[in-house]
Amino acid sequence: MISGNITGQPAKAWQSKKCAVVLTYDDGLNVHLDNAIPLLDSLRLKGTFYIPGNSQPFANRIDEWRVAAKNGHELGNHTLFHPCNGNMPGREWVSKDHDLSNYSLNQIVDEIRVCNTLLKAVDGKDKRTFAYTCGDREVEGQLFYDLLKDEFIGARGVYSEMNDPENTDLNNINSFMINGESGEELINLVKKAQNSGSLLVFLFHGVGGEHDLNVSLPAHRKLLLYLSENRNNIWTGTMAEAAVQVADFQNK
Ligand SMILES: [Zn+2]
Repeated sequence: MISGNITGQPAKAWQSKKCAVVLTYDDGLNVHLDNAIPLLDSLRLKGTFYIPGNSQPFANRIDEWRVAAKNGHELGNHTLFHPCNGNMPGREWVSKDHDLSNYSLNQIVDEIRVCNTLLKAVDGKDKRTFAYTCGDREVEGQLFYDLLKDEFIGARGVYSEMNDPENTDLNNINSFMINGESGEELINLVKKAQNSGSLLVFLFHGVGGEHDLNVSLPAHRKLLLYLSENRNNIWTGTMAEAAVQVADFQNK
């Protein structure tokens, strides 16, 4: 059912623009500070940066992350040690110390809370969004975020699908993980969101290097220029801002 407002018109999402785009950048990398944030700032666009507490570029450059947060970017929670389930195929790289399959439920919940404390010490914020490491959602057979959802605005998952505002699951928001796509391909995803009125979430790691999963600088720039040039039709903001809009829309 489409929810209506007082005028009988369908409720509008995305501040009456055609679609919403959220740019997320994972793992607290140097290239986020060096390549992504300067371009975002020059175009007056905001992004969300999912930072694991043990990121060295986070530890080494806290003042710069604080400035980024002050300028409207979101510092998102990406756990304390970036644990992933080492029992899954292709996860040979997961270290014994940070293997989510060895965690207890309390351990992951505690560590995510400590990451919130760490990020609050940098940006002063009480509420932010969370991103599942490797998309893993279960510990001891339970969805661990269920124990944390009152402490977050939403959680980003890794299913490569659009989010339509009515059916978006704020506990597992879909996102497209980008690795090697051209600027054209990235823009085509945005056009799909424009045609369907969806929320499209990009998931980047490296931006011009520093990670095996990478987007080239020209492709990244092309996408951001498109978002900037089409800002009258496309809402771009942080994951936290988008999640608040989804919650408002669903509660209407
Ligand atoms: Zn990650």
